[in-house]
Amino acid sequence: ATSSGTTGLHAALTAVGVVRGDLVLAPSFSFIASANAIAHCGATPWFVDVAADSWCMSVPALEWALRDQCTRRDGGAVHAASGRRLAAIMPVHVLGNVADMQPITSLAREFGVPVVADAAAAIGATYKGQPLGELADLSVISFNGNKTVTAGGGGAVVGRDSKLVDLVRHLTTTA
Ligand SMILES: *Cc1c(COP(=O)(O)O)cnc(C)c1O
Repeated sequence: ATSSGTTGLHAALTAVGVVRGDLVLAPSFSFIASANAIAHCGATPWFVDVAADSWCMSVPALEWALRDQCTRRDGGAVHAASGRRLAAIMPVHVLGNVADMQPITSLAREFGVPVVADAAAAIGATYKGQPLGELADLSVISFNGNKTVTAGGGGAVVGRDSKLVDLVRHLTTTA
């Protein structure tokens, strides 16, 4: 549990290792909190276009960013032009529409980059029969007043890797 979706995204990005100076790939269409959480880590959002049918991160755009703009280094990916590390990929499940997670996660695995999904407004959504928490390394839900399920304010970070989830729990309980 977190105090908001934004703090959940900040904690999740921190847990997967995003630090000052890094880049995080994010879709160009989202609520500002996606980019804010990246900035709270001292990292910079690197925006790629969204797909016309889902308004979620475009797979061809992500593939272009990884294959044409990055080089492989130390098991991860570096933005060739700037030399900055690509530390995470943040698909956003926009307004309950789920990003095309299968190609996104397989590209991420190929380039050694973790995936933190912004599922702030998508609690209960599924992808090919799978619940959202199964899809990314970590997924973040918001319980803000304008969401599907609300507590007035609040958030949650979910994932399958108990070590990663334990780290988020450690960070969000003042370490
Ligand atoms: C609401 C929302 C957030 C932030 O959640 P808060 O709980 O308001 O901090 C992040 N991303 C998206 C896509 C959202 O809709």
